Amino acid sequence: MLWKCSVCGMVVEGENPPEKCPKCGAPKEKFFQLSKEDADKIYMSDRTNDIHMEIIQLAMHIAKLCDEGIGIKLDPSCVDAFKAAKNEAWIMKQRCKAEIVTHVGKGKW
Ligand SMILES: [Zn+2]
Repeated sequence: MLWKCSVCGMVVEGENPPEKCPKCGAPKEKFFQLSKEDADKIYMSDRTNDIHMEIIQLAMHIAKLCDEGIGIKLDPSCVDAFKAAKNEAWIMKQRCKAEIVTHVGKGKW
């Protein structure tokens, strides 16, 4: 069963609501049980959110490598390739961030 804090939105798993919200400290009376439908949405998106986060990390790593490559300035086409890869990494990162935001907006978190 999943329980949601009505004060801060924190979701907790368990047979019963926690004595206190681990995030904001609200008492257990402030928790309500999520419907099966809402709980399923959260469980299903749990893994995809992790994947989006990992892609964001990898994209940031790609951007860092590209900066290093650009700094070496071997020749113009090499620099262009790193600049292009950096732009693509930025797009990947922002697209994943935007998708996570829509999950949160739909309560899939
Ligand atoms: Zn709370």
